[in-house]
Amino acid sequence: MDVILFGPPGAGKGTQGDRLAERFGLERLSTGDLLREHRRNGTPLGREAQRYMDAGELVPDAVILGMVEDVMTARSRARFLFDGFPRTRAQAEGLAALLERLNRKLSAVLVLDVDDETIVERLSSRVFCGNCGAVYNLRTDPPAAPGRCNVCGGRLEQRSDDREETVRNRLAVYRRETAPVLDYYGQGPFTVVHVNGERPVEDVQADLVAQLAA
Ligand code: ADP
Ligand code: AMP
Repeated sequence: MDVILFGPPGAGKGTQGDRLAERFGLERLSTGDLLREHRRNGTPLGREAQRYMDAGELVPDAVILGMVEDVMTARSRARFLFDGFPRTRAQAEGLAALLERLNRKLSAVLVLDVDDETIVERLSSRVFCGNCGAVYNLRTDPPAAPGRCNVCGGRLEQRSDDREETVRNRLAVYRRETAPVLDYYGQGPFTVVHVNGERPVEDVQADLVAQLAA
């Protein structure tokens, strides 16, 4: 049974998703991470995605659905935790078709609710390790040594789309295109559970664990 972790950019999906994946033996499938990997590797898909990502716009649905299908087909035994996907109604419908074709089912849609101003603040202070991908926050979760990853010593970087101007556009895109996906899931048969994502990481985690264990 697969799970969707839903919410605006910067809500904490990656932070929470990594922990949930480890705890419940799920595989986190983050379309943002997959796209960044394509960009790093300079694939045609990565080159096509770049201009959308830099502008904080959505990468076309067909590109995303093809990429997700490839991973789900290759990792057919995994149970997935979708992070940052689906982001449009067409992606949600595409996922439904894919799940049916692969004989899989969704069990829950977990939504992290966080205010826009909190998001702008969080993303302006988010850094990640260019080597291993670990994520930090200069305000709430700083690394032990400035600019260096606690895990591997790699250099910490800022995402180019975490500039305030781009974040504001990503939030507008979220409200316009992504939030309505919840209306689609609200029609059932899945449980859509809202969790207050404004609290400390451990408290949010406890609620999500309780929901998944239920
Ligand atoms: P998303 O994957 O939804 O874009 P992240 O998990 O990368 O979000 O979190 C965005 C930023 O906010 C990161 O710098 C992260 O360390 C920080 N963060 C995540 N959860 C919380 C929280 N509950 N309270 C404060 N900061 C948080
Ligand atoms: P994220 O890492 O989830 O914040 O995504 C970073 C960027 O990648 C987004 O701003 C989009 O440009 C692109 N992206 C990631 N996932 C999707 C998706 N499911 N649909 C469309 N674009 C996406």
